[in-house]
Amino acid sequence: MSLGEFELIQRYFAEASSDASVALGIGDDCAVCSIPEGQQLAVSIDSLVQGTHFLEGTPADLLASRLFGSALSDLAAMGATPAWITLALTLPSADDEWLQLFSTRLFELCRQYGVALIGGDTTKGPLQLSAQVHGFLPKGKRLTRSGAREGDLICISGTVGDSRGGLEGLLNGFENDRHADYLLDRFYAPSPRIELGEALLDKASAGIDISDGVLSDLAHILKASGQLGARLQLEALPISNQLIETFGEERSRQWALTGGEDFELCFTLSPEYLPFLPQLSMPVSVVGKVTSSAKVELFLRGEACEIQGSGYDHFHHN
Ligand code: ADP
Ligand code: MG
Repeated sequence: MSLGEFELIQRYFAEASSDASVALGIGDDCAVCSIPEGQQLAVSIDSLVQGTHFLEGTPADLLASRLFGSALSDLAAMGATPAWITLALTLPSADDEWLQLFSTRLFELCRQYGVALIGGDTTKGPLQLSAQVHGFLPKGKRLTRSGAREGDLICISGTVGDSRGGLEGLLNGFENDRHADYLLDRFYAPSPRIELGEALLDKASAGIDISDGVLSDLAHILKASGQLGARLQLEALPISNQLIETFGEERSRQWALTGGEDFELCFTLSPEYLPFLPQLSMPVSVVGKVTSSAKVELFLRGEACEIQGSGYDHFHHN
């Protein structure tokens, strides 16, 4: 996108940052930034591809919130504090209305989370958006996937399954649309659990954000922590009334376990920290315990049960 590319960046993305850590922002070949004394950099990148992650015609402001929320969620899952973001846009055309909607929402979110947009890349092609996020961690600290131990409590923030409910409504319609706005919002505008991740940094033994589904993401923690297993009490899964009232209890429970893209945090915690849970910035549910068995056992009101499918995997369909 050579013609107009410079103007496009200037008009929509070159907002001056007052962030002290940014010595040089958008406009040169690189941004130049400083990492505060005693901190380390946490870096992650996330992409949204039309046809894979969203449908053609999705409004640009919703794409901005979806991209921003999913990208920052990785920092939350690491316990990091967001600092900077870079943005790679591939656009079929330079559509003013699209760019206005997209950049306005993106900057709103940047302000809300204290993040500076420091650079990016703009090219022409089928619509695709990538955001690289950079955050700070106190030196030597990080909330990894690999620290869970037998006997730890398995915890989940907020509610799970809502995003899958929103997607279902988009694809096949809602059975009733009383809670359509809520569920669509959970799909399009995930809230990265930054404050929670920061608070867990000193307490949780392991953590991950729920992008592929509780079962799938919990399995990453269990595997990384040394082939551990889990016992889950399905009645303890945090499921919103909105989801249950729209799709019924059974489907809601299935989606709570296997629906992805809720971007809540799943973490493990030594039982001694149980009293600390109510002090957190948001509701957290204890859904089970880590075991040494290398398998995940599910119980519903005391009875062992099974569930189909374990989550979403881009290269594997079962
Ligand atoms: P180069 O040709 O050196 O890659 P560009 O012309 O692509 O540089 O970019 C010029 C400046 O604009 C750079 O500072 C780059 O980081 C920034 N930039 C380009 N696209 C975006 C975008 N979509 N969002 C934010 N900054 C961007
Ligand atoms: Mg250059």
